[in-house]
Amino acid sequence: MKKSYKPQCAFYLSMDPAMKNFVQKNLVGFPLQFFTAAVNEKNVRASTEVLGVFVDSKITEKILQKMPQLKLIVALSTGYDNIDLEAAKKRGITVCNVPAYGEVTVAEHAFTLMLSILKNIPASNVCVKNGVFDCRGLKGHDLQGKTVGVVGTGKIGIHFIQMLQGFGVKVLASDAFPRKELQQQNNFTYVSLKKLLASSDIVSLHVPLLKETTHLLNKETFGHMKKGSILINTSRGPVVDSVALAQALKKGIIAGAGLDVIDGEEYVKGLCEPQNPKAKKMCEANHFLMHHDRVLMTPHNAFNTVEAVERIFQTSIAAIEDFSKGKAVKNKIV
Ligand code: NAD
Repeated sequence: MKKSYKPQCAFYLSMDPAMKNFVQKNLVGFPLQFFTAAVNEKNVRASTEVLGVFVDSKITEKILQKMPQLKLIVALSTGYDNIDLEAAKKRGITVCNVPAYGEVTVAEHAFTLMLSILKNIPASNVCVKNGVFDCRGLKGHDLQGKTVGVVGTGKIGIHFIQMLQGFGVKVLASDAFPRKELQQQNNFTYVSLKKLLASSDIVSLHVPLLKETTHLLNKETFGHMKKGSILINTSRGPVVDSVALAQALKKGIIAGAGLDVIDGEEYVKGLCEPQNPKAKKMCEANHFLMHHDRVLMTPHNAFNTVEAVERIFQTSIAAIEDFSKGKAVKNKIV
């Protein structure tokens, strides 16, 4: 059994600074530092041994070099595409995440976006806020009778599918690693991505951001989508090419979109300026999408409920405590 010690912990609570109190209450006796921004070259601390970060902190090799004492990175999230795992591994830094805090939470958010777009809630709400209490031009659609395509049948995707039961829909799904036994249990059918896109009235994305899923929806694949369908993305922004999405909306290939995430969130947040023509084009497309009346966009907020955030911090604090006692860290990625 290794000796227990209390490492220097730095939490970058950009997405929820109020969780400072929760950490202080639950990591008693640990030297703690808190930051209200994401990690950057200016606020990174050389003394950090344990780092807690949300998905908006980009943990690059260069940032890691500025923390020579770093031993553990706690991703305060399910996704960890913001962390250079290879660089961490090379340095012997352990990285862990919170694999299951929010399948309910994120699936509910996706469901909310889907129903809101179907029922024309964004435009309806704008009308009323402008003092116009008139339903003309705001006709929506029933969910019943539609075909819903779910891309990614992991924890969130399956929960989303389970929530669809009872709504009288047909559910199709695609996954790079289909688990066929789930189909009967959850009343859906696996098909290819191409078939799913061609057959679905609503497509909801629940895949991790990987090389293979970057711009999974692009100019070509939008071309496979059923005309007038709806896209829901609560996975990661870069899974959808914003420029292609804006085009698909303009051409009427899709009728609306519910987006919790968007390609180039760092630009949307104003953290950096687009430097090259490609990034500028993406920012123009994002601006178009943000102001489109059939796009409902939330600021990467799907995880953000009182219950889910507490679960994230409980799991993360348990990982730090295990680490400090020399025990194996649960949910270790590298
Ligand atoms: P999960 O790992 O349980 O499931 C992911 C599924 O995607 C798996 O079934 C996997 O086989 C499948 N997959 C992997 N590569 C694929 C590919 N190339 N094509 C098709 N399917 C592929 O993950 P989860 O818990 O369901 O979460 C999914 C994603 O949701 C996370 O990786 C994260 O990026 C995102 N997320 C977003 C928020 C938010 O606040 N918006 C919160 C939590 C998670």
